[in-house]
Amino acid sequence: MVTCHDQRSRVAEAGGRRLLVLDDSIMDSRQTRETVQEIVERLTGRSYLSWSAISTFMKCPLKYRFHYIDQEPEEFISANLIFGSAIHSAIESFYSELLASNRRLSLDAMMSVYDDKWSNVELDQVEFGKGDDQTTLKDLAKRMLERFLEHEISRPVGNILGIEESIQQSLLDDCPEFLAILDLIVETEDSITITDFKTARTRWSNQDVMAASGQLFLYHELAKAMTDKPVRLQFAVMTKTKTPDITIQEVIPTAETINRVRQIIYSVWQSIQTGNFFPIPNAMNCSTCGYRHRCSNWPGT
Ligand code: SF4
Repeated sequence: MVTCHDQRSRVAEAGGRRLLVLDDSIMDSRQTRETVQEIVERLTGRSYLSWSAISTFMKCPLKYRFHYIDQEPEEFISANLIFGSAIHSAIESFYSELLASNRRLSLDAMMSVYDDKWSNVELDQVEFGKGDDQTTLKDLAKRMLERFLEHEISRPVGNILGIEESIQQSLLDDCPEFLAILDLIVETEDSITITDFKTARTRWSNQDVMAASGQLFLYHELAKAMTDKPVRLQFAVMTKTKTPDITIQEVIPTAETINRVRQIIYSVWQSIQTGNFFPIPNAMNCSTCGYRHRCSNWPGT
């Protein structure tokens, strides 16, 4: 899609072959990064950090440990997680079809993507919220996707550059590479817009937007290395209400907010390496946590 150029490298000819030559400073930093990469792979089995991992750690370090370090399967899967993922898949299919053939998927076609996602789930492992079951969630999905098809977000102005686009690169010295999966990237003449879709119980307050914005600030840093155009950031928040609603919440990064999110990532990575994991029990974290039993039996070390 787009190419990342490294200004501390040059192309040389040798024996008729073109070689990318890195200068000494970048070689040194890459050797450091390799060591960091080895650490993250040893600790987590992955070659990267993600926003999901960072935010899990910030909400509950012990849950982070169970999931990313111990790699224990969850005791149940929250129906909310499957629901959000199924809505995401339906929207992804919509934009993929728009990009491939300039054709808008129908509601029925989007619902069949939603159903496919549920068909792979072991239902006895799923924990539904109070008053919810597969039927009530399917009705809700239909109303939400109907609203999506009416909303301007389903008629993007500009060229679709990427859907569920993965970017993995280094952002900070002494930190592992970062992996981001960008839901939707649209390019116009004067900017690139990254949209991240969220499902939420109610409309987001300014506080909700601020609390989630670190993810988009991070995506900004990853994306700006690949384009000369300004990068715009927005959440498309879809409510799971009786009459679903979609609001576009733009997020504007500043040098201070970017620096703050970098510092957060750095601090979380330092904490992960020290192995200092502890529970943060509260109703919001624990009600959907798939490690409740494991957590209550955890001896403290
Ligand atoms: S049950 Fe609560 S405190 Fe325990 S690991 Fe899960 S989120 Fe953390």
